[in-house]
Amino acid sequence: MEKKPVAFPFCLQERHHRLKLVATRENAMKLEGGCYCGAVRYVAEGEPMMKAQCHCRECQYITGGSPNVFLAMPPDGFKYTKGAPKQFTRNDLEKPVTREFCGECGTHVVTRPQRPLVVIKVGTLDEPAQIMPQIAIYTIDKQPFHHVPEGMPAFERLPRRQGAASVSISIARTGPAALQRLTISRRYS
Ligand SMILES: [Zn+2]
Ligand SMILES: [Zn+2]
Repeated sequence: MEKKPVAFPFCLQERHHRLKLVATRENAMKLEGGCYCGAVRYVAEGEPMMKAQCHCRECQYITGGSPNVFLAMPPDGFKYTKGAPKQFTRNDLEKPVTREFCGECGTHVVTRPQRPLVVIKVGTLDEPAQIMPQIAIYTIDKQPFHHVPEGMPAFERLPRRQGAASVSISIARTGPAALQRLTISRRYS
């Protein structure tokens, strides 16, 4: 059964917006991580643009079946400090993402959508507990055994806009045209 997307009251949007203005600099993080075997290592610096769990069908292949927990970071703060990942891009999609993974142990480290962000798999961080997912996306593909925590905003696909403010954007304000765009930009994380 599909969980209804959460519509946020306007007052909450406004409060979130104000909080974001104050907190922007304090949210900057320096994160380190790498693959299971250690051949590939990275550092990511900047303000996380989204922390989420993705229930999409594509992510289920990568995680083994669970939702995929990720954070989106600005690409200019991300660099590999050891090794180089292999890359994979599907050639049958209009806007495919590029997936980067360790060629030795196969760990999927990051995804690069065709937009300025790097999507880091939280399981590859040295300290995964640093990141708490804030929203659930692509619940349209959710399996019966997936869990969305009580009170977590859930979206059938994506919130209308990316970024830290995305939790304040009501999916109810997404028109049919925007929904279609979201559908096209699937296979995001
Ligand atoms: Zn590895
Ligand atoms: Zn996904």
